[in-house]
Amino acid sequence: MKYSAFSLLKQALRGHRHWPQIIEAPTKLRPGYDIVIVGAGGHGLATAFYLARNHDLSDVLVLDSGWIGGGNTARNTSIVRSDYLLPASFELKNFALQLWDSLSQELNFNLMYSPRGYIDLAHSDGELEHFMLRANAMRLGGAEASILNRKQITEKVPAISLCEDARFPVSGALFQPEGGIVRHDAVAWGFARGASSSGIHIRQNCPVTDFDIDSGKVTGVRTAQGKIKAGKVLISAAAASSQLAQLADISLPLEVINVQALVTEPVKPVLDSVVNYNAGLSYISQSDKGELVLGGATDGYSSYARRGSFARIEDTLARAQQIFPMLSNLRLMRHWSGTADIPMDGNAIVGATAVENLFINCGWGYAGFKATPAVGWSLAQLLAQNAVPDLLQPFALERFESGALIDDAGIGPYPWLH
Ligand SMILES: Cc1cc2nc3c(=O)[nH]c(=O)nc-3n(C[C@H](O)[C@H](O)[C@H](O)COP(=O)(O)OP(=O)(O)OC[C@H]3O[C@@H](n4cnc5c(N)ncnc54)[C@H](O)[C@@H]3O)c2cc1C
Repeated sequence: MKYSAFSLLKQALRGHRHWPQIIEAPTKLRPGYDIVIVGAGGHGLATAFYLARNHDLSDVLVLDSGWIGGGNTARNTSIVRSDYLLPASFELKNFALQLWDSLSQELNFNLMYSPRGYIDLAHSDGELEHFMLRANAMRLGGAEASILNRKQITEKVPAISLCEDARFPVSGALFQPEGGIVRHDAVAWGFARGASSSGIHIRQNCPVTDFDIDSGKVTGVRTAQGKIKAGKVLISAAAASSQLAQLADISLPLEVINVQALVTEPVKPVLDSVVNYNAGLSYISQSDKGELVLGGATDGYSSYARRGSFARIEDTLARAQQIFPMLSNLRLMRHWSGTADIPMDGNAIVGATAVENLFINCGWGYAGFKATPAVGWSLAQLLAQNAVPDLLQPFALERFESGALIDDAGIGPYPWLH
């Protein structure tokens, strides 16, 4: 069904009782598929969608151990931006920003993309100088970026408080007007609906438990619901990637670390941009419901528990209150955690593996949502054409052997610092 004002009116007249299911769940899986994708997060589903849209391939199965978007995709703070210094990071995320712009129309599903501007605060002259370097690199790459002084920040964000005598005073900011937020669960469901309408099968509650590998080549997957043959397999399972790769004797340089998000009670509109407080990290935006959505740094220790520490909640709120003192009057409604898969250089691992026809997409940590459509687009190209697209070249697993790391933060091989 095409969603439109007309279909809304038609369904309203029928008492909203005849909306079709968003995806068609296959009653029976086929014995084999050309491509099996492990993980129905945004990345896996976007890959499935673009396999059908760009390459006319629909003999594809997407499997998830849980539910659509139930991993990090629908747990994130939904921020999208491309303000990265290194070309590898910038180009992929900037391509994603171009795709976000028209994706709701493309998918006929409202993703609520809101390019409301991303403001990254600098707390010292040195940091501001680094931001200038980033802004220049972004402009050279074709993105809009500018540096704001304190007065311009206050004009853009009237609710902000920039005290001169704050512990970490703000000296300026990097501003990306096209940055903003996208509704995260809609992204997963929009891609799922697009893929499913092309005939791609999506099966939830069906964990992959092993791979069939014959003479160094993957030939299928084993699942809780039986064996399925596969021409190619993509592991796109975020925090579970290491365990899955290990089944194929592949060791990934990843650590899994909790990252939390917090939401206050809803209030009237007070913040129409995304603001990032960099002294320790606390990022904040306001949802369309009025809730202030906050995220912070990682919890700093490895865990698969999907529960964060109270200490990190306290830090994140304390930092945010430095610039938004009004937060102290609000109640915290909910908080939750995701398990971020962070490689040693803090950047993703995408591409082929030592096992023929087995591909990997992981290591997006707490920064992969923004790249979702570009990752799906590029992975679909890789799977369909067996050639690594330029955008993905730098993200190969071999970089940890060759030393060609992508260390955006410039802080070396410490996942908990990224
Ligand atoms: C709190 C938090 C805040 C974040 N904020 C942002 C942000 O503001 N901006 C941004 O760009 N990024 C952010 N991120 C990161 C972003 O959410 C992720 O990088 C991105 O969603 C990864 O998508 P994915 O599809 O690779 O993984 P996921 O969405 O995690 O999907 C992986 C899927 O694999 C499935 N799976 C696992 N094991 C198996 C198995 N054995 N068999 C079958 N399926 C399996 C899981 O159930 C899951 O659904 C944040 C992350 C967190 C945790």
